[in-house]
Amino acid sequence: MRSRSPGAHSFAIQHLIDFDTNHGYIVRMTDERFMEMCLREASTAFESEEVPVGALILSPEGKIIARAHNLTNRAARPTAHAEILAINMASDALENYRLLDCTLYVSMEPCIMCAGAIIEARIRRLVFGCFDAKRGAFGSVIDVNKLPLNHKVEVLGGVLADRSESLLKEFFQARRGTEVVITGPTRNRLYV
Ligand SMILES: [Zn+2]
Repeated sequence: MRSRSPGAHSFAIQHLIDFDTNHGYIVRMTDERFMEMCLREASTAFESEEVPVGALILSPEGKIIARAHNLTNRAARPTAHAEILAINMASDALENYRLLDCTLYVSMEPCIMCAGAIIEARIRRLVFGCFDAKRGAFGSVIDVNKLPLNHKVEVLGGVLADRSESLLKEFFQARRGTEVVITGPTRNRLYV
């Protein structure tokens, strides 16, 4: 059945138009908007003295079904990364251990643990902020997409990377009084 409100329909479509195909990746206008939300989650983490990383998950219909930030300190859990918490939340929301056709947004490149969870959940698309030169598993230290696994994730990195990097830099400087070296606009080296 055709939409009765073509105006509203075309407005929604307009905001989902793919406008850039640099490096073979598709950048969507909404990606920055969702990354903004991840950065707000990251700021909340910062305020509770957690490493400032935030994540959210979109359902196949484009609904936010999970929002989380890093809680490793407070929960005393090495697994309490923003991505894992968001994946658990989204699985509860969908009552399914597969998050087929879902998109995960996270303010920093996932580590190998989170990359494993992303693949186990069969998440279709991953959008992340800054790269993590020390632990990143989608191009920095390793690229799990290059491993002979049965699921490949569509990946876009570097969305609002400068802001995510600034937040992390501020956090580690405040906590450790250690200089953090930023080696490029999207590549970073965080002394953790
Ligand atoms: Zn992780």
